[in-house]
This record gives sequence, C-alpha cells and structure tokens, in this order.
Amino acid sequence: MNQIHGVGIGLGVAQGRVARMSGPLALPTEEPSAIGAEAEAARAREAVAAVARELEARGQVAGGAARDVLEAQAMMAEDPALEAEVTTRLSTGRTAEWAVADAFASFRDQLTAVGGYLGERAADLDDVAQRVIAHLRGVAAPGVPDPGHPFVLVATDLAPADTALLDLDQVLALVTSEGGPTSHTAILAREKGIVAIVGAADAAGLADGETVIVDAAAGVVITDPSAEELTRAQHRADARAAAASAPLTPGALADGTAVPLLANLGSPDGAAEAVALGAEGVGLFRTEFLFLSSQNAPTVAQQREAYEKLLAAFRGRKVVVRALDAGADKPLAFLNDAHEENPALGLRGLRALRANEDILREQLTALAEADAAVAATGEAADLWVMAPMVATVSETRYFVALAREYGIRTAGVMVEVPAAALLADRILRDADFASIGTNDLTQYTMAADRLLGSVASFQDPWHPAVLRLIRATGDGGAAGGKPVGICGEAAADPLLAVVLVGLGATSLSMAPTALADVRQSLKTHSLDDARRIAEAALAADDAASARAAAQAAASLR
Ligand code: PEP
Ligand code: MG
Repeated sequence: MNQIHGVGIGLGVAQGRVARMSGPLALPTEEPSAIGAEAEAARAREAVAAVARELEARGQVAGGAARDVLEAQAMMAEDPALEAEVTTRLSTGRTAEWAVADAFASFRDQLTAVGGYLGERAADLDDVAQRVIAHLRGVAAPGVPDPGHPFVLVATDLAPADTALLDLDQVLALVTSEGGPTSHTAILAREKGIVAIVGAADAAGLADGETVIVDAAAGVVITDPSAEELTRAQHRADARAAAASAPLTPGALADGTAVPLLANLGSPDGAAEAVALGAEGVGLFRTEFLFLSSQNAPTVAQQREAYEKLLAAFRGRKVVVRALDAGADKPLAFLNDAHEENPALGLRGLRALRANEDILREQLTALAEADAAVAATGEAADLWVMAPMVATVSETRYFVALAREYGIRTAGVMVEVPAAALLADRILRDADFASIGTNDLTQYTMAADRLLGSVASFQDPWHPAVLRLIRATGDGGAAGGKPVGICGEAAADPLLAVVLVGLGATSLSMAPTALADVRQSLKTHSLDDARRIAEAALAADDAASARAAAQAAASLR
C-alpha cells in the first residue's frame, strides 16, 4: 500500500520531492581540541560570520518583520561580548563547538536575567547557536531545510514561528507526523493556503528526495506514485486553481439565502488578501496572535494601532474581534503565569481575562478608541467584540456589561464549551450574538486534546455529538432572533459548511484561502437541502458515518 493516512487541511493537492525538517543537534561534548585554541578561535569566528551573513541574506529575501528579526539575530551572533565569552572558553583547550554552545547558553541566561526587550530576544540565541554549531560540523542547520528546489516539507510538527516564515514559493506542501486538524500549525497552514496533512504518524518514515503526492482532500500522502497518479493529481490542482478565480459573489445558498462569508485573521496584515479573496468582513480576529511573544501586556497605544489598521481595511463591514484568548495552546506570558496540570481546563480565555481585569479593560479601551478613530476619518467598520471560552450565563453578563461600559455596541460570546452550547438560549438573552468555535467545542465534547496526534481521530467536528451541540446553539439563536456564526475550522470544510447552515448558523468565518471552495459549495444547495443534509448527519452514529450520510444526502438533490 503506497498510502500514508493523516488529517488533510483544506482541499488542495500537490506533488513534489520530500525535504525533512531536521531536529535539534546533539550537544557538543567537552572533549579537548586536537588543533589548539588559536585554530579553534579562527573556526568559531568564521562560523559565526557565515551564520550572520546567512541570516541577513534570509532576512533580505523574507522582507518585512521577518527581516528585522533575522537582522537582529545576525547582530546578536556577532556581539563582541559574546565573542569574548567564546575565546575565554577556548583558552581551556576545548573545541569551538563546545565553546560556542556553552558561551551562547551563558549569554542567553544573562539576557534572560536582564529581562524586558533583551530578555525576550534571549531565546533567539539558541537558534543562532544551533546554526553556528551546524556550520562547524558541516551539517544542515536544524529547522526548515533548503534543498535548493521546491519541496514537500515533512516534519514532526512545526512551531508557529516556523510556519510563519515558510517560503511559499519553495514549500509545495506540508506533512507532519504529529498535530491535529485544529492545532495552530494547521490553522496557520490553512491561513497561508498551504496544502497540508497533519497527524500522519507514518510520515516519520519518508526519506529526503523521494517524490510524493500530498492529497489533503483525501487525507493521504501517496508514496512512489505512478505516472498516471501524478498526472491526475496535476489535473486536480489545475482545476482547483481555476475554481479559485471564479467571481467573488457574496455567500449565498442556491435559493438566495444569504450566508455571509467572513475571514479568520490573526493580524491586520492579512486584511488585504482576505478582501481580495472575497471576505465580506471578519468573523474572528484572534488578538492573542499579535502578542504571542510578548512578555508584558501590550499597551493601549500598541493595540489601538493594530485594531485601527484592521477596522480601516473593513469600513462598512462587520469585524468581530475576540478578546485575548490566552492559555493552553496559546499561552501569553502576561496572562498565564501559573503552572497548571491541565491548562486547557484551567484559567484560560475569559477566565484569565477576568483574573486580570485591567488587561481586559485596556483591550476594550483600545478597541473603542480604534473604532472612534476610524469613524472619524470616513465610514466606520461594524465592530463586534466577543469573549473566548465562556461557560456560564454569569460570565456572559459580566463580559457584555463590561463591553457596554466602553461603548461597544455589539457584544457577544464564543460557544466553545459544551455548557455554553446547551445553555445557548439563556446565554443569548444577554449576549448580542454567539460565535461557535468548533475547534475547542470538539476538543471539549470529545475530551481529546486538539494538539495531540494520538487522539486526532476524535478531533472531528463531524461527530454527531458536536453537531447536536451546534444545533442547540443554532436553536438558541433562532429563539431569541440573535445571530449565531461559526468561526472554527469546521466552517472551511465545504460540505460541513452546508450542514452548519442547516443546523442554524447564520454566517461562516474561515481562513480566507477556504472561501472559494465554501462559496461554491453553498451555491449548490437550498436552505431546505441544507436542513435535510444536516438531519442525515445528525442521525449518524459517528463522525465518519455522519460525513458519509451527508455526502449521500447532498448528492440526492
Ligand atoms: C475555536 O476554538 O474553534 C476557535 C475558533 O478558537 P481558537 O481556534 O483560536 O481556539
Ligand atoms: Mg477556541
């Protein structure tokens, strides 16, 4: 069997040669040098300079914020104080590899102790040290490989920073052996439109240079493909590229029922692309993504700048901003300082904000100020603000009342905890709207960590238990005449998107790259169809049969 199974992200298909992401290098041992201190010092100097030049060159290519980060790393690598630390260690007769590892580690500890901006940069030194040691050993630096041709990147998992810096002209597809469909690696892959398969445990056996087909729609990596398989995959890729250039009409079902199609964004920088792909607004702005590497809470001014940029890009359109969702897979140093055994069940989301109310108040201040500033220079955006990880009616009341204090006109909650879904009718008496986060709702319904590859099969929003909770939320919205959007990854699955509308969702928000497929799928079903397809899925016993039942019902049109 030439297939490796995993969880596909999106509907893309790509083919190419594998390049594996290398893991961290083994630490150098303290063995004595065979060539003497002076020769070792020359090796160390040459390696540091080579790495600094390479970082600068990579920065030039990446441009923008990445260039600043990489240039700062290059400067740090050549800091004279660091060179002195290396030289001191070499005088004890050790190798350049060991002296670099030890000196960089001690320099990192010193920076961490200083704290503030320098402290924040300290972790970057580990990456630079690994690059210098790799250069000294004559091996590839750990991290994203550079085989000199476009490649299929195979990794155990990727840090968000790795994914953010991927060169999309080089990376044809991404395959990870760990991670679930709603891990933030998967979310970022979707945001960048990378053909990806995660949680493919057997991908660990793929070798550098071998040709594979990555079929995200089917969730399989085909190894040793035949010429015919390669041609078929190419035709599919070409057809999908053609669909992506279809007209950007507003989201609607076949009978004309409007289903606004909105974008999930993690930075205002993605706004222009979202608009270009036909986003009718923003359904989820993940504010915590702006501050993942900050040690201290962002200032009101810092936040206002980002929010203003976002709102100005969507004048006259709806923009749903989520208050900081810190904790579990997205810890923020300034909100989650306590160790918790089960952070996903801990002080995260609104719970963490409530425990640090000054931070929540500052965020609401920044949002209200940004809204007013944009309104003062032309048409305003329609700002909606929502709280993450709400579990109770009293949390809803707390958040809505606080938001109103700052003049936020439309305040709502995310439904990500089964308790909130089951009590949606009561919650929606106080909240102006609900937005269902199917990633966490699935995680909490199925008791399956969304980051864990070993339980990825439970992390399936098609599960009828999850669908019932979505229906309960949709019913709660309909009873009170309040909108219920979807902003989890489920909305990006074209067939599931139809089911979600059948269950009562009034808008769908997703990575902008998924908009074209979902727009197309909605157009082929009426509201009656959507309800019938949803009933078929709800009646199934498990996720796989729900998907199959929906497929069968959808083809009965
Ligand atoms: C969700 O849980 O579905 C969601 C949209 O929020 P996040 O993925 O950022 O936790
Ligand atoms: Mg969530």
